[in-house]
Amino acid sequence: MYAIPILTAGSIRATQMIPQDYHIHTDYSCDCKATMVEMCQAAIELNIKEIGFCDHYDLMPEDPCYAFFQADAWWESLQRCREDFGDTLTIRAGIELGEPHLFQAEMHEILEKYAWDYCMGSLHWVGSKSVFDPSYFKVPADVAYRMYFLELAKMIAHAEFDILAHIDVVKRYGFDAYGMYDPRQFESEIRDVLRICATRGIALEVNTAPLRRPVNQTSPSAVTLSWFREEGGRRVTLGSDAHLTEHVGFGLDSVMSILRSVGFENLASFESRNPSPTPIPQ
Ligand SMILES: [Zn+2]
Ligand SMILES: [Zn+2]
Repeated sequence: MYAIPILTAGSIRATQMIPQDYHIHTDYSCDCKATMVEMCQAAIELNIKEIGFCDHYDLMPEDPCYAFFQADAWWESLQRCREDFGDTLTIRAGIELGEPHLFQAEMHEILEKYAWDYCMGSLHWVGSKSVFDPSYFKVPADVAYRMYFLELAKMIAHAEFDILAHIDVVKRYGFDAYGMYDPRQFESEIRDVLRICATRGIALEVNTAPLRRPVNQTSPSAVTLSWFREEGGRRVTLGSDAHLTEHVGFGLDSVMSILRSVGFENLASFESRNPSPTPIPQ
């Protein structure tokens, strides 16, 4: 047995080299104002060696980011950043696909058209409800969380992507509605999700955005990461989900100690949608 450390925002410190931040938004996402250049500069200041831009590609008509992403302009911008910062920073081309299982033809088209290093699958909507809308949480907690994980299992089983983003993002506002979130209450549903990821070779992202919210946990937290290993998962990536320059790399050094404590020795790096192991620094 191993002790599972509890990560809180108070324990965050930037004392360790951060090898990777694969979840950085730019002003090509509807909910971000920072430019790609500014995000590159923020990563260089923190001495992060490898970043990935991962803007929203959302096809749900009700989503605020619906039809916002401009792929050609994004790629031009990425190319300029690679020319300007490529000596010090490896810049990966990622994309955050919203509900990819519901829009398979369109998602496949954008994945085929451009030279992505990785694509992330994200679930922000369950049926006609966004999990960022308080009205999603009008049902009992049990129902709200279970519906989320059941839909997530469908998404992973049927869609094409490389990394599962923020596996339990539903807790971000679920916490505001119901109080403390404990994944053990939904272990069976979460293990189903993790098993499908492991079987399909899909990497699990550890996302630090919920550390910046009252829920104050990584997504996922340590216990879920330990289940992922037990279910055969070996690929994990780090993501700050930064929408502001000051959030680049946020909390990722502390995540690495959690990953090591549950048995992970490597992060997954992606190039041209092929994963390779990168050792987690000691
Ligand atoms: Zn997301
Ligand atoms: Zn995101």
